[in-house]
Amino acid sequence: MAASLSPSDMPPALVAHHGSCSLLTSDGELLTLSSEDAVLELRQWPAPLVVHAPLTARRLGLPPLPQPTPWLDLLELFVFALPGRTMPPTVRGLAQALELDDNRIGSAEADLLPELADILLDRVATLRATPSGEEMAALAVRMEHAGWAWGRSVLAALGTGTSLPPEALQPGDAIRVWRRLPKWEDAAPRPPPANHPVSAADARRRLGEILGPDAETRVGQADFAGAASAAFAPRLVRGDPHMVLAEAGTGTGKTLGYVAPASLWAERNGGTVWISTYTRHLQRQIEAELGRLYPDAAERRRHVVLRKGRENYLCLLNMEETVNIAGARGAASGNLIGLSLVARWAGVTADGDLTGGDLPGWFGDLFGRGLLAGIADRRGECIHGACPHYQRCFVEHSIRRARDADLVIANHALVMSQAAWHAMDGDEAGDEDNIPTRYVFDEGHHVMDAADSAFSAELSGLEAAELRRWLLGAEGARSRARGLKRRLDDLVVGYPRLEAPLEAALQAAHALPAPGWSGRLADAWHSTTEAVTDVATEAATETAEMPGDHAASPPSPLALLGPTNDAALPNPTEWLLHLLGQQALARSTARAPAEGGHRPGAIECDLHPVADAVLPAAAGLARALDRLAAALRTLVDRLLERLEDDTAELDSATRERIEAGVRTIRRRALSRVDGWVSMLRSLGAPADEGATPQHIDFIRLDRREGQRAGEHDVGLHRHWLDPTIPFATVLAAPAHGILVTSATLRDENGRTDGEETERAWEAAEARTGASHLPSPALRASLASPFDYQRQSRAFIVNDIPHDDIGALAGAYRTLFLAAGGGGLGLFTAISRLRAVHQRLSQPLEEAGIPLYAQHVDGMDNATLVDIFRSEANSCLLGTDAMRDGVDVPGRSLRLVVFERVPWPRPDILHRERRLHLSHGAPGAYDDRIARLRLRQAFGRLIRSGGDRGVFVLLDRRAPSRLLSAFPEGVAVRRAGLRDVARDLAAFLHGHENGEDGIPSSPPALS
Ligand code: SF4
Repeated sequence: MAASLSPSDMPPALVAHHGSCSLLTSDGELLTLSSEDAVLELRQWPAPLVVHAPLTARRLGLPPLPQPTPWLDLLELFVFALPGRTMPPTVRGLAQALELDDNRIGSAEADLLPELADILLDRVATLRATPSGEEMAALAVRMEHAGWAWGRSVLAALGTGTSLPPEALQPGDAIRVWRRLPKWEDAAPRPPPANHPVSAADARRRLGEILGPDAETRVGQADFAGAASAAFAPRLVRGDPHMVLAEAGTGTGKTLGYVAPASLWAERNGGTVWISTYTRHLQRQIEAELGRLYPDAAERRRHVVLRKGRENYLCLLNMEETVNIAGARGAASGNLIGLSLVARWAGVTADGDLTGGDLPGWFGDLFGRGLLAGIADRRGECIHGACPHYQRCFVEHSIRRARDADLVIANHALVMSQAAWHAMDGDEAGDEDNIPTRYVFDEGHHVMDAADSAFSAELSGLEAAELRRWLLGAEGARSRARGLKRRLDDLVVGYPRLEAPLEAALQAAHALPAPGWSGRLADAWHSTTEAVTDVATEAATETAEMPGDHAASPPSPLALLGPTNDAALPNPTEWLLHLLGQQALARSTARAPAEGGHRPGAIECDLHPVADAVLPAAAGLARALDRLAAALRTLVDRLLERLEDDTAELDSATRERIEAGVRTIRRRALSRVDGWVSMLRSLGAPADEGATPQHIDFIRLDRREGQRAGEHDVGLHRHWLDPTIPFATVLAAPAHGILVTSATLRDENGRTDGEETERAWEAAEARTGASHLPSPALRASLASPFDYQRQSRAFIVNDIPHDDIGALAGAYRTLFLAAGGGGLGLFTAISRLRAVHQRLSQPLEEAGIPLYAQHVDGMDNATLVDIFRSEANSCLLGTDAMRDGVDVPGRSLRLVVFERVPWPRPDILHRERRLHLSHGAPGAYDDRIARLRLRQAFGRLIRSGGDRGVFVLLDRRAPSRLLSAFPEGVAVRRAGLRDVARDLAAFLHGHENGEDGIPSSPPALS
């Protein structure tokens, strides 16, 4: 049943590059135009066919398109026709996803777009006259009425008009996907796991079974599996888990190496092993690799669950509310189209994950990230058993499936916060968390960073205002926030013992920043700076002015801040934040906006010595927060009493709701408020001179960019000096076995003697928390199977001035052109990335090399990497996240260019850690961090035995002592840009002298 765009009104098709466009006119003529000409032409055309309308508009220099998008975006049609599938959002990516022949794809320009549209419409047409087709038609009618550009074509493909026959599904029902989703059913709780060991031989055998008889034998992988099995031995002493640190060079095959003993342990013992990663991307990659162990998808779904924080999943209640609001606004609501496509996806998704799952990462680019944020459980307002969709809820489904799974793939942030909550709740912890006894930490070099975030505390305007919203609800603002009273209503109403503490808590919450706090704080800081500037100006003015000539004095900051319950007093949180911000501004060298300073970013300053006015303000806020905590604590105690006293009356749903309510009050409110009070009370405590501090306290003032530039948040921050202490105490010590693995656990400084090897292991143990456990960790190290000497080259360019952005951009251009694309450019600062991108995009496009960039293209990182991976000759610019999370085997990534040595950021946290954790050698501490980052960056280059790649560092100041970061065998050469470009081209294009095109011994640096 073929469907196609009507030839009578065939739209033009447009593909925008940097500075130029490919255009297929309605008459079928293919043109190449400058962006300026294309913009002029656009005014006379009907809406064009495009791929990724927002990006196309950006590249043409147009303002953001309105919603609904007037253009025919093929990505929207793709989500409608093939929901639950993802692909890189480019012409080529779409063509490949639709299985077009490579020859047909060609240069993937505008002439391909009509064909792609026809294929998608054909796919829609195949469902005509099926139940699914009727559902699609009902949805499409609604979308058409809301102004969807594809509405008419889709309805024609489905063989229906813009009004449905009466027997078809009601259009209003089609979007209400929650009515059609399956329900979960409760099962008896799983008994605790047994403790049968997994021997090294068992692990190797299991690995062999997973790989199958025809797989190539990787000795390192089998050794890795054997070593990993030690983390699954029965625990001998409480509080003393088996910890294995296993470094496995790139290409060892460590995922299946640890899956072998982990899956065997889970089967033998009826338990669950939690595999934790740092990046979302690796979570999905591991899930895909588990297809080797469970080839059958249904079986895999039973055994393997991917878990993320609740805020990642679609909340059906939020979706229902958003749909109702959009419906009430009628056809004018651009949201209706995005929501309808979410409904299409929600009907087929594997787990309801909105971020990085089977909803394309670019969906948020098309309809705004706010749409997705609004339908996830971002605000922590889940009402659990009181929710009409509770039994269809994706979050609840995933929690329940995880309880019975063999392997749960989670992330470091989730497992750490889960362990912290469990420690806080003690015996009253619900089984939502299913606390594991066995963990595998992949990307283990990030354990310290993840622990640093998970166990830090922040009393900032944003955090405190969010808590107020969680307690009090929207307070008249345009928000759907429900507030604690509405969420607990039926549990509390009619029970005076519960109503009283709830009311007291809500009263006390007025001490938190009131709506509009950010603007008031900025005004108060401005007024203070202006007052100081005026005084200084007056003092400098010799001309006497008559009294009464003064301009009106700026208002007092006190008067500008929000009220508390007592309108005569300023809001105590806003007052303290104001003073903290003043301290930060006073001690910073950056200029305030009132003085003409507008640089976005953060200003940090030490908390101590605390400015005089801060202490009484902190004491006042601590008293106010004490009142809030006391009321919440009473509420929690009395809810628990109700659980005990009304045992006979409470049905299981109400019991579950009370337990969930108690849990969320503790986690969302009490733990935060208690942490803040403890920070505030410690401000006045005398510093223990000379002692190593346990925490690092500092103030941070965040400044935004954009139209209303200025300070927009300030906070008091407390981090552990050594965050692996809480990691070891809260997560590792209660566990029975932990495997920490990475390609870069250890840093070696070039010496290979035993003393240096021991030092490197000790540093790795310190970074992973192993040194805080009673027994030493088992150490294992498996070398990469790759032949780096043959497969790679490394250069340091020694003739690029480090502070000349033009020269830097020129170097990137020369190197990317020499490689013919396939280059990943890594930056240590976003501003330099943007400046280089601006100079680089057009010359590369002119050479046929598409350029993509984080922080420029408005796409999420995973999407950018997907695009980069799918194109053999594109280039990608990025910062830290690209250094760690990119896995692009093959020719698409053949050159990594690092702009500077990735030294640690010289902030307060680093200053204190290098002082106290470096054993008296702060320089060596910095070197170690830089070397590990270089190793990580180099690790992006060679991902398989067939890869060839070149690594270039554009920093002539790079000290030779950092060069041991590169794998053994990699020759590093310092040379001028022209020579590096020539040599890398020769290496990548196979023209080097010698056997295999490679010189027998390139001159290496010592
Ligand atoms: S149970 Fe909670 S997360 Fe799930 S749909 Fe209802 S409110 Fe949303």
